[in-house]
Amino acid sequence: MNVITPVLGDITTQQVDAIVNAANNAMRGGGGVDGAIHRAGGPAILRDCIARFPNGLATGDAGWTTAGELPARWVIHTVGPNYAAGQRDRALLLSCYRRALEIAGELGARSIAFPLISAGVYGWPLDDAIAAAVEAITGATTQLDDVRLVAFSRNSYDAVLQQLAA
Ligand code: ADP
Repeated sequence: MNVITPVLGDITTQQVDAIVNAANNAMRGGGGVDGAIHRAGGPAILRDCIARFPNGLATGDAGWTTAGELPARWVIHTVGPNYAAGQRDRALLLSCYRRALEIAGELGARSIAFPLISAGVYGWPLDDAIAAAVEAITGATTQLDDVRLVAFSRNSYDAVLQQLAA
């Protein structure tokens, strides 16, 4: 069973093998954590996205690129369901975490950091976004040594702590 380490901070500074990006179907950059990752990692990430994902990425799926100038070795991009736009299939949100862990395992990563996928612009209710993250990460068949769940605000961090203690 994967053990989750809660972190309050910026995912781009995490010293892990892979960080996960909450991307969109187009896979050409965006706002929120996606924008932060492309800014901090530099243009190599977008170049790799264009080369490796000419047709973008399906919701619930994941794929990797270089991490450019980030401390991580890889960025694993995944596309969460856009709750605000009416995509409310929870299985797709669980799939994002599972697929990202699967790809991390294939790459030989031992450590990974996740943001709260779909919990920003995509509007998934925070407590359930966290519950889905915890359920998918702890229940995944791919086991890594260090799995971090990175919250970007005190409010979401406190909610993560509360659910991990429950
Ligand atoms: P989505 O479109 O999947 O909702 P967002 O990027 O809008 O993705 O938000 C996902 C989560 O990532 C939100 O909880 C947001 O606060 C958080 N976030 C934004 N920037 C960062 C960052 N630099 N590091 C970690 N988490 C971040």
